[in-house]
Amino acid sequence: MTHRQTLVFATNNEHKVTEARQVIGDLFRFVTLKEAGIDIDIPEPHDTLEANATEKSQTIYRLTGRNCFSEDTGLETDALNGEPGVKTARYAGDGRDFQQNIDKLLHKLEGQPNRRARFRAVISLILDGKEYQFEGVCEGTIAEAQQGREGFGYDPVFIPEGAGISFAEMTVEEKNRYNHRQKAITKMIHFLDQQHA
Ligand code: IMP
Repeated sequence: MTHRQTLVFATNNEHKVTEARQVIGDLFRFVTLKEAGIDIDIPEPHDTLEANATEKSQTIYRLTGRNCFSEDTGLETDALNGEPGVKTARYAGDGRDFQQNIDKLLHKLEGQPNRRARFRAVISLILDGKEYQFEGVCEGTIAEAQQGREGFGYDPVFIPEGAGISFAEMTVEEKNRYNHRQKAITKMIHFLDQQHA
């Protein structure tokens, strides 16, 4: 297997796909679950990002036998001892509602001067049955109120270090200069390159 073959990206999140395509370009080909004809909502039952990422990639590998990668992200705030962390998607409930999640986070941080937070992404890659993981971190702060309309999830309240504006005020290209997921994807690209060499 080389990176010239097509990997399945185990996600149903179109925003993640757009961001990933912008970084990956034609370095290697991937298809989404939808493009691979797989209609599944993969569970995330574990208490670490690493274990949830593994669950997703192994589920797809078992179903398809195809080389694939998945990604699990958590938002960790210092003042809340790392919350929402592994519960980031379902912080305000199983509906995974972006607005309710943001409202809950802003409410819990009300009056809190320490706004430090980070996005941490873990990619699980399965190549011929063997798993490899890659991590990407983006440090930043949680805004006092929502700013901007682009992106998804917590983008309107996350201000990456050195940016001065939120992810939701950036184009995909600008966001990718800071993006946790892109840092993990870049590590995976280097790894795939070495496999090919
Ligand atoms: P998961 O990796 O799909 O489980 O994502 C967890 C949750 O993290 C998502 O539902 C989003 O709310 C949030 N999230 C992940 N990546 C980003 C991002 O780049 N910006 C804002 N929120 C994100």
